[in-house]
Amino acid sequence: MATLPPPIRNPEIKFTQIFINNEWVNSASGKTFPVVNPTTGQKICDVQEGDKADVDKAVAAAKAAFQFGSTWRSMDASKRGQLLNKLADLIERDIVYIASLETLDNGKPYKDSYTVDMRLVLGTIRYFAGWADKVMGKTIPVDGDFFCYTRHEPVGVCGQIIPWNFPLLMMAWKIGPALACGNTIVLKPAEQTPLTAMYAGSLIKEAGFPPGVVNIVPGYGPTAGAAITYHPDVRKVAFTGSTEVGQLIMEGAAKSNLKRVTLELGGKSPVVIFKDADLDKVVELAHQALFFNMGQVCTAGSRTYVHEDIYDEFVKRAVTRAKARPVGDPFDPKNDSGAQVSEEQFEKILSLIESGKAEGAKLECGGARLGTEGYFIQPTVFSGVTDNMRIAREEIFGPVQQIIKFKDMEEVVARANDTNYGLAAACFTKDLDTANTFTSRVEAGTVWVNCFNVFQAHAPFGGFKMSGIGRELGEYGLTQYTEVKNVFVKTPMKL
Ligand code: NAD
Repeated sequence: MATLPPPIRNPEIKFTQIFINNEWVNSASGKTFPVVNPTTGQKICDVQEGDKADVDKAVAAAKAAFQFGSTWRSMDASKRGQLLNKLADLIERDIVYIASLETLDNGKPYKDSYTVDMRLVLGTIRYFAGWADKVMGKTIPVDGDFFCYTRHEPVGVCGQIIPWNFPLLMMAWKIGPALACGNTIVLKPAEQTPLTAMYAGSLIKEAGFPPGVVNIVPGYGPTAGAAITYHPDVRKVAFTGSTEVGQLIMEGAAKSNLKRVTLELGGKSPVVIFKDADLDKVVELAHQALFFNMGQVCTAGSRTYVHEDIYDEFVKRAVTRAKARPVGDPFDPKNDSGAQVSEEQFEKILSLIESGKAEGAKLECGGARLGTEGYFIQPTVFSGVTDNMRIAREEIFGPVQQIIKFKDMEEVVARANDTNYGLAAACFTKDLDTANTFTSRVEAGTVWVNCFNVFQAHAPFGGFKMSGIGRELGEYGLTQYTEVKNVFVKTPMKL
């Protein structure tokens, strides 16, 4: 993927219905909802609006596909891996179309859809394809005359509720391990960005997955999402999104059937820049840590702690860098940022910027809407930020960088940890002892040293504290999609 092929600026919308049993169907209620282009605020199309009745149908299909004797349940594990690889091949075949569709629906730069989102989608699906026939139990040397072993069995019907910031990638993170382990799925894409997930439904069918193995129900959270969360036949729910909704998911899981829950939630990730860091490199990395994907990343480096000795110089360079960031038409490869995903997010970000000004942070650049159409926001930098301000405590999910001063390790670690979040953290230093001390003390599921936003399918991802429960990706992620069954077999003698 070295060169960027030209995008399709007006990708045809091929699928707008609910995908159940490898068929496209209308919603039981007959309702639809509009999907909006964030770069214009105009409607792209109407999509069938799934609700409880549709979720019930999808769960019934997924349950039937999971029955003993079904094609899926009888399939060799190696064949499941082949199907996942086939799906990746089909996504790669249609990569320009899908990356273009993602950009149309989400507003993110096409060059990112193509080189970041799609590359990671393919990497994730192929990685889990490789695991399909390597999910193994153990034999255990217990006392007495018994043969004892474990089987790692699929959990069953998995509900998967995903967000809008990396639509197809979040789908890949969810379906990859679930299918590798032999589960069946009811997936609800975010209402803001359902289009690539629905197209992927057509590829899932084309790849040869049996009917009912993957079902896709577009719709809203409190209706379709809640129906998945509370469904008695859903054995596990995997969710990525806000911490508030994560709490609702856990509550629903507890109140219904104690379904297994994995949650990837919000963050307020500290980026700590010690005074020996290479300033040129670190200004760029801290900039990308926050502004990548218009700040709509759960790991966004949204608290930039800079040592007091280099603070003023860092602010100066960070502001110059932010002012130079090209924002605009996401299909134009010269732009590094496109539009925020929705009017709701756009308004929320602008109101948090206002709170920063009102609470006394210094607005160094940006701070307002860009242009007159769509949901574009100027790259914004605040200096003089203190820990108690809303912009230092709340997840902004927008292009707003907070630069905060610190004195020493002891103090900065305490301040970095003074949050309910614990998703990611980074430190920049040339000193190994400084890096190791920070890494061991900071409360975060991922720590980056002299780098940021490195994601790979092989390595686990998830949060400490209120940033989540469980891990996705890697071998750790796989374990969240199996139940361990222990078997004792009586033997005639000690074996
Ligand atoms: P959200 O948490 O409301 O939505 C995420 C998904 O959950 C969507 O599919 C949504 O339909 C569904 N959902 C919403 N309410 C639900 C409910 N009651 N039951 C079941 N499912 C439900 O996120 P949002 O409103 O789109 O964004 C709000 C904030 O969430 C953002 O500003 C950001 O802070 C955070 N967020 C985090 C991530 C992440 O990757 N961690 C992604 C998107 C948003």
